[in-house]
Amino acid sequence: MTQSVLISGGGIVGSFLGLELASRNISFQIIERNSFAPSKNDHIRSLTLNFSACERLDQLGIKTESSLIQKMKVFDGSGSGKLSFQSDEADIDYLAKVFSFTELRETLIKKVESSTSVGDEIISFQAMESGIQANLSNDSVLEADLLVVAEGRYSNLAKSIASENFAKDYEQIAKTFLVEIPELNTDEAIQVFYEKEIFALMPYKNGTKVNQFSVVWSMPKELAPDLTLDNLPTHLQKFEKKLSCKIQPTSELLSFPLSAHHLDEYCDHGVCIIADAAHSIHPLAGQGINLGISDAIILAEEIERAISSDKEIGQLAFLKKYELRRKTLNTSMIKGVDFLFNLFQQDNPYIRLGRNSGLKMVDKLSFLKKNFILHASGIQKI
Ligand SMILES: Cc1cc2nc3c(=O)[nH]c(=O)nc-3n(C[C@H](O)[C@H](O)[C@H](O)COP(=O)(O)OP(=O)(O)OC[C@H]3O[C@@H](n4cnc5c(N)ncnc54)[C@H](O)[C@@H]3O)c2cc1C
Repeated sequence: MTQSVLISGGGIVGSFLGLELASRNISFQIIERNSFAPSKNDHIRSLTLNFSACERLDQLGIKTESSLIQKMKVFDGSGSGKLSFQSDEADIDYLAKVFSFTELRETLIKKVESSTSVGDEIISFQAMESGIQANLSNDSVLEADLLVVAEGRYSNLAKSIASENFAKDYEQIAKTFLVEIPELNTDEAIQVFYEKEIFALMPYKNGTKVNQFSVVWSMPKELAPDLTLDNLPTHLQKFEKKLSCKIQPTSELLSFPLSAHHLDEYCDHGVCIIADAAHSIHPLAGQGINLGISDAIILAEEIERAISSDKEIGQLAFLKKYELRRKTLNTSMIKGVDFLFNLFQQDNPYIRLGRNSGLKMVDKLSFLKKNFILHASGIQKI
């Protein structure tokens, strides 16, 4: 029995799912609403992918420039607490890789181009006895055995299928830009936590610049408008002092509002939801797309299993298997990141003291660190 998958949303995860399905000889079609118009700031946004996601991209033949992260250092900005992770502590070749968001997206899109229609969207769908019927904005109707919603954070289709059991506006903005830092090693990522800000530096190979890093700096909404290219060097001084280095900005500033959410269900008859359409997360742990890629891998596995046992892929019983395998893991990551965010927001002196000594203590416990690394790398599942 030939079965087909309709994917709504051809972002990184929607395209990645297409590629996963193609590698399993399962037919698919992607409907992407927006055409990809290049802009002069495309090179600024980076994306850190964990070990498991990078290995899978490699197996699927995705080759684009990236920087390896071998070591990660976490500092408590207002104390002396410090924690560091190294890939060899968990016997893996690297912790993560940093990609250009646009380059990775373009490479993925090219691979699935022949199965993608751009400029349309699915405005509604009906579950049928077998599969679904989707109504498009261009008045056409498509039929498929399964509809997968990969439309990102503000998906209307996802909202029409399930409600949110967790939603949070962090009242923060992430400012993203590029810098040069001659004093830092280009295989190290650094994160500094203050009560109201999180400053992250990721090594970033893009173009000819050496010792280039990508910054993701989360700050309260009210501080963000005051930050301009002109006064940026003054605002960076506290990080320069903390890290004993000189930070030289080299690009414009991009801004992203920060929120998190989680749907209480990922599927219904003939339809399921993946990645940011189902869950979003504060970027402090750089895990958003890693969770999405894991959703896509597990869903593709379940679809392949259903097809090989001659079952309909739109059946809720099969889709629930995908939900079961992903929801608990996604919940623990979303809650864990939220806990970490709240922990560093506290300016209570006792909590600050506990946080400082906690970081130092964990830094000395090699078995605990190894577990953290294996979870963050996507190798070990909870
Ligand atoms: C500042 C910042 C830094 C981040 N850094 C990292 C990081 O280092 N590592 C990490 O893992 N994650 C990171 N993330 C999270 C990551 O960017 C997201 O998790 C990821 O982009 C989600 O991918 P997606 O494909 O689900 O959604 P999207 O990237 O939002 O793609 C959705 C696609 O669907 C299309 N679409 C939308 N609506 C429709 C519709 N109705 N019909 C058809 N198509 C539609 C859109 O045009 C888009 O192409 C970061 C996020 C932020 C804000």
